[in-house]
Amino acid sequence: MKQTYETIIGLEVHVELATKTKIFCSCSTAFGGRPNTHTCPVCTGMPGTLPVLNRQVVEYALAVGLASNCSIHQMCRFDRKNYFYPDNPQNYQISQLYLPICHDGYVEIETEHGPKKIRIHEIHMEEDAGKLIHDEWEDCSLVDYNRSGVPLLEIVSEPDMRSADEVIAYLEKLRKMIQYLGASDCKLQEGSMRADVNLSLRRAGSKEFGTRTEMKNLNSFKAIRRAIENEQERQAELLDAGKPVEQETRRWDDNKEFSRAMRSKEDAKDYRYFPDPDLPPVLIPDEWIQRVRNSLPEFQEEKAQRYIREYQLSAYDAGLLTESRKIAALFEETAALSEKPKKAANWLIGETLRLLREKNMDPEQLDFSPEHLAALIRLAEDGSVNNQVAKKVFEKIFEEDIDPVAYVEEHGLKTVSDTGMLEEAARRVIAANADAVEQYHQGKEKILGFLIGQLMRETKGQADPSLAGEILRSLL
Ligand SMILES: [Zn+2]
Repeated sequence: MKQTYETIIGLEVHVELATKTKIFCSCSTAFGGRPNTHTCPVCTGMPGTLPVLNRQVVEYALAVGLASNCSIHQMCRFDRKNYFYPDNPQNYQISQLYLPICHDGYVEIETEHGPKKIRIHEIHMEEDAGKLIHDEWEDCSLVDYNRSGVPLLEIVSEPDMRSADEVIAYLEKLRKMIQYLGASDCKLQEGSMRADVNLSLRRAGSKEFGTRTEMKNLNSFKAIRRAIENEQERQAELLDAGKPVEQETRRWDDNKEFSRAMRSKEDAKDYRYFPDPDLPPVLIPDEWIQRVRNSLPEFQEEKAQRYIREYQLSAYDAGLLTESRKIAALFEETAALSEKPKKAANWLIGETLRLLREKNMDPEQLDFSPEHLAALIRLAEDGSVNNQVAKKVFEKIFEEDIDPVAYVEEHGLKTVSDTGMLEEAARRVIAANADAVEQYHQGKEKILGFLIGQLMRETKGQADPSLAGEILRSLL
């Protein structure tokens, strides 16, 4: 893109809240489920039904708003956003336009030029729509209302971002914050976090905004980055050619790396919003706000700073340990129980992250107890098990949360440093590998490694490896 333009980006982020039930009825919000089984007359828009607000939705909205430095509208209201679409059985969506629950906040991101505040215009509560499935084979469209009425927060930023990097940093920041609050799992792939990107260009130095487009269907950070770069180029080419940018909504196709116009972008007035007459205003007393404020958790940066201070960890390690609240909690408990914070950090950063990747799991799914990891650290420290065995035992802890002390005992995994026993095993190895022994005597020193390997096998990996080498050498 030519340097003559400045990119202006604002984001609308939708987050599915982690409530057990929907926003206006008691249907389950569980992901998946047979189509149309998590439904009732309320969330399928039957006439005569009345919505009842889920208190937990307000609780989460307050937490996210306070964590992002927002002011709260202590009397907020729901409005109807009217439009027809088959995934929207009421023909309106219950949302907030006039008095959104949170407004005028900010989050701070790190950029190459230092910290930067991204202002939040507002955060409002609303209900999700159902899902349409277009069956090309049968040439028909099917609708599943399981998602209809799942609570959403929409977080609307000011147009404060200037590059794809800043957008990703902002989204990462929101995601971590909301995950730490437990308000949502924020999975882009499953759609529990979705971002619409509003982007326009203006000549460098100009104060006026250009015409913006909105891009939808961005379900990974990579897709968001590619879509932004592609749209910057597309608009720059239009402007260079003296053509206007149309205000429209565009759908990003990540496979084709290209976006296409979906519809001309509508304004709020097109939806004929009006206050929902079925829902009374939500009144939020000071005490409620104070209680939520007091229960905000320690967030990632503060936690990482504390780890560096209290446990003398590197900034890099502290960053990895605080990536997820779950791992951070495991770390703190294991460190306290074992009194070996560095070792606890190593197990969690090394083997735990490796196994999570290998098994394609989320940190949230970790299910072992810090007591067991602490016990394993003690076994390794006092030399009861060697490194190799410790890793195997850890895998068992990771998978089944076994008690390592009992497990090592039961499976006879204690390190063998009994010289007599090792000598016996070494003799068996020497007798069984006459060829290798011959080569060793001819001066092929390297073959010793092979023999040590055999001895480790003979002792089921439990020999103390340096002792095994010594004994073999002396016997040969
Ligand atoms: Zn329902």
